[in-house]
Parts: sequence; structure tokens; C-alpha cells
Amino acid sequence: MARIVGIDLGTTNSLVAYMKDGKPCVIPGRSGRTMVPSVVAMTDNGLIVGDPAKEHLTRSPDRTVYSVKRFMGRGLADVQGELAYFPYSLTEKGGVIRIKLGEKTYSPPQVSAMILKELKQRAEAHLGESITKAVITVPAYFNDSQRQATKDAGLIAGLEVLRIINEPTAASLAYGLQEKTQGTIAVYDFGGGTFDISILKLKNGIFEVLATNGDTHLGGDDLDRRIADLLLHEIRAGHHVDLNAYPDHMQALRLEAERAKIHLSDNLKTQVAIELPDGTSRFSRELTRDQLEASVMDIIERTLAPCRMALKDAGLTPADIDEVVLVGGSTRMPFVRHRVQELFSKQPHWEINPDEVVALGAAVQADILSGGTTDMLLLDVTPLSLGIETMGGVMSSVIRRNTTIPASAKEMFTTYVDGQTGVDIHILQGERELAKDNRSLARFRLKVPPLPAGVPRIEVTFLIDANGILNVKASDMRTGQSQSVEVKPSYGLSDSEVERMIEDSFKFAQEDVTARKLIEARLEAGALITTTEKSLSEGSRLIAPDTLASIRAAVAALASAKDGNDPKAIRARMADLEQAAKPLSVAMIDDSLKRSLQGKKVTEVT
Ligand code: AMP
Repeated sequence: MARIVGIDLGTTNSLVAYMKDGKPCVIPGRSGRTMVPSVVAMTDNGLIVGDPAKEHLTRSPDRTVYSVKRFMGRGLADVQGELAYFPYSLTEKGGVIRIKLGEKTYSPPQVSAMILKELKQRAEAHLGESITKAVITVPAYFNDSQRQATKDAGLIAGLEVLRIINEPTAASLAYGLQEKTQGTIAVYDFGGGTFDISILKLKNGIFEVLATNGDTHLGGDDLDRRIADLLLHEIRAGHHVDLNAYPDHMQALRLEAERAKIHLSDNLKTQVAIELPDGTSRFSRELTRDQLEASVMDIIERTLAPCRMALKDAGLTPADIDEVVLVGGSTRMPFVRHRVQELFSKQPHWEINPDEVVALGAAVQADILSGGTTDMLLLDVTPLSLGIETMGGVMSSVIRRNTTIPASAKEMFTTYVDGQTGVDIHILQGERELAKDNRSLARFRLKVPPLPAGVPRIEVTFLIDANGILNVKASDMRTGQSQSVEVKPSYGLSDSEVERMIEDSFKFAQEDVTARKLIEARLEAGALITTTEKSLSEGSRLIAPDTLASIRAAVAALASAKDGNDPKAIRARMADLEQAAKPLSVAMIDDSLKRSLQGKKVTEVT
């Protein structure tokens, strides 16, 4: 099986990892750095990605794109709040955002694909083989269209995305938490520009997201800005110069602030030094860890309220959390770890590099998918059957419950009424026999040309991918016309609801089967009455009056049984009618044979 890599496609940085001798490891670039800044720049010499593109951020901001992840799968209306943060210009085409980069515009998946291509090439150079398959991580709160956009980015980059997995799940996999098989995990992800908290439930080796919360504009950058502001203030007071008027010095100031912050994670004090615009003087001061903590404390406290909310949403207290996992570069700060530990009263996991932990977990998942890790089973199954409503309000299952995903299945359907011009495809989820007792997922209509009942052939395909996204396609086999819809069947469905739906299917099994049998018998009886009456209108002259009378009596008996509630009685009257109508069909066949023979003679004579 071809190698599958794991990719963390991040807002600020992206990484690619693979499994080497049973251990996940991140692939470095030529410079030895493992992180590729998620930045794309259009230069006179073409597109560049990563570290060299980052250098263009201040030089040519109108031709440089960063944080594209914030726009994946979104429309312009969704991101109005974001626009204030970004210098680059956005438009919309067909509901999809377009980002201007130089003279051209690109969709967010196209820009993300440029970053993915860089990671793909990095992996190919390192491993000396072509890489075409990947697992990509996304935030747990990403909706279907954001996940789909991520898959599209993979496709554009020449990568088949075998699975999209949640970042907190990946981090938990990197720590091997799935081996515990049960438990509740809090994943605290504090990066450069975003903060996420996710509460996961692990049950039988499968992770489920119980709650997510966070702040999409809170991260290490805010800490840097706070330190830079402090220094700016002191420079203004001591040297009577406002660095705000000097963009290059401001940039240097921010970098120095970040350097000092990082240094103070491992040291108790550091020396800060800034060249001043006059070219001869310098500002310098000592900064201690205590001073840093005092000045950024309120920013770090802002991460705790979302944690408490997520716990509340999951119906849990800190004591219910079995494991805490730290993700993101900013969790290297001792004060952050300390506050997280206090909140959950638990020592968090931080042994694995917090910048790499998500990519490493993606590599673990990739290895599971490629069959490399056989002692860990991370199977996803459809908890409930998926199907469509057919005539009479009956559920017809297409993918049965407990099918391992990804899965696909096809069924052929037809029309019940002559001249029908469309078929309604109503997608259902559940175990009950009648459509009304199941969960309605989506509906759409496929147009068909008017034809006699039973003639159109409509193929309905269900395809549920590894991420649980269901695509239903209905195609008219005669015209080639098709229509499709995509839904996430697990959306808004709790464990207890799944259990209730399955229990109900047992509880009402007898009633349901009887109801279904009655509906089916009535439908077939209706169809038999219609065809018999059609035959009578064409062929009554061919049969004896008493045969005609007995057929009419059998039709009347069936019609009255059809109004009753006994499927057995309906079936018995159908058999009676078929018996009574036999002479009519025999007479009609004879008659048509005779006529075709006569027709033949005429042809021969002429
Ligand atoms: P990420 O988005 O996960 O790559 O995190 C990047 C953020 O982590 C940036 O704001 C960095 O300044 C910050 N960071 C990286 N290393 C450290 C460190 N040792 N101490 C504090 N913050 C750090």
C-alpha cells in the first residue's frame, strides 16, 4: 500500500509527518525547520510559499496571503468580522471567497493547495518517493463545507485525502490515548493567533467531540504585542521617539518581543535590545519572567472562560476530565501550563513538541489507515441505517446500520404513476419501517420525462466517506440527468438518540412490519386494479359475459379489501383477481397474436 502522510494544515504554520519504524516523525525542510509558515506570496518570479513568502508580508502585503484557513469553506458574509484583520482584498464568486494575489484571484482551497504542494514536495524529497495520499487535520468546530474545502485543497495539490480528522483527536492519538479505550480528554490549543478548547470522549477507541469553544483571535501574537507595547512606551518616555512612525523598527520590535517571550519560557530573565531610528543609540533593558507574566496575565486568563464554557456545554466539571493535552507553541509558557493545571487539577501532557503534536497524530491515523498499526482499531461505523422514502411512505434502506465507513451502495427505483414528471428523493436515517418514524436528513427532486409507470430507471447511489459525509445521487438512466445532495448524518445526533432510535426499532418491530406489509399490499393491489381495468377496457369484448362479471366482482372484492387493514386479506383477493382475470389475458394474447399474423400476411401480399 502506498505511503500515507499526516498533515497539519495550520492557520500560521503547517507540517507534514510520517510513520518511521513505528514512531511518528515530522519531516524537516532543507533548512532543518519542521514548520512551513502558512503564507503564500506572488513575486515577480512566481509563487513562493513558507519562510521566503513570510519575508514578503511587510514588503508587499498586497501580494502576500496568510491565515487563509480562516476563509476555507466560507462565504463573504460569514467572514465580515475577519475583514478588519486582513490587508488583502477579498471578493466572492458563486458563493466562494476569492483572494486577490497579484493580478489574479484564487479560492481559499487553491491557496491552501499551494501550501499542501510545498509539504508534498518536502515529503517526496525526504522519502524519495511520490506521495499521493494524506490525512489532513482540521479544527473540531469546522463544519461540512470547511472540511470539504480542505479536501478540495488536497485534491488540487494532487493528494487524495483519505481522512479529515479533528486536530484535538490527532493530538490525543499522538499521545497514544486511544489505547486507554475510555475516558474524557480536554485538549487546550493555544497557538500564534487562535485559541481552541475541545472536550473529547473516548469510547471503545473512538473519539467523539463533546464540546468546543475558544477565541479565533487570541494567541501568542497578542502576548508579543503586549510586550512590544510595553517597550514602545518605555522608548517613548526615555528616548522621546515614537517607533510607530518607523515600520521597519516596529517589525524589529515585535520580533524582539517574541524572542524575549520565548527565551523567558526556559530562563528567568533576558536582555532586550532595540536599535533606535537615529542609527547610533539603542534601547536596552532586562525583562524578567515575573514581569512578563504580570503584563500578559489577563490575556492568558481569557483562555480560561472558554474552557469553563466547554465543560459546561459537555455537562462536565473539571474533575470529570481524565487527561489534559497541550497543543500550540504558546503552551510552552510555564505560566500557561500552570493555569491549565490549576483549572483541571491535573498535570497536563506536554512531553511532545506542542507545535508538532497534531501533525504527529495525523501520521498515526495515516498509519492506522494504511494497515501499519494493526493493534489499534479506529473503525468508524454508521450507527443507523441510511435510506430513502419509497411509495406509500416506506423506508428503503440503502446502507445498513453498523456498516464500516467509507461505504457505498446503489439501488434502482422507478415511478408508480403514469406520466410522472419527477421523483422526490427523501433521505432518511433510522431503523423504523415507515419514513415518518425515521429522521429526515434531506430531500431533493429529480426531473424525469413523462413515461408509463415502472418504465423510468432511477439509480440512487449512497456514498458515505471516511469523514461521515454522505453524498446521495439520483440518476435517470435513460436521460443521464442527475441530481445530488451532501449531508452529515451524524450532525446533531447524540449517543442517547441513536440508542433510542435503535430501541424503538425493536419495540415497534411487530407493528412496523405489519404497517409496512399493509402499505405494500395496498400499493400492489392498486396497481393490479389499474392494470386489470385497463385490460378490461381493451379486451372485454373478447370474453364471455359471465367471465367478465366474475372479473368485475373480483375487482370490487379487492377494492374493498384494499380499504381494510388486513394485508393477508388483500393478498388473498389479489390472488382471486389474478385467477379470475386469466381468461381475459389469454384472450388478449390470442387476439394480438392473430392480429400480428394478419399484419404479416398483408406485408407478404404487398
Ligand atoms: P503555533 O501557532 O502553534 O505554531 O504557535 C506559535 C506561537 O507559539 C507563537 O506565538 C510563538 O511565539 C509561540 N511560542 C513558540 N515557542 C514558544 C515558547 N518557548 N514560549 C512561549 N511561546 C512560544
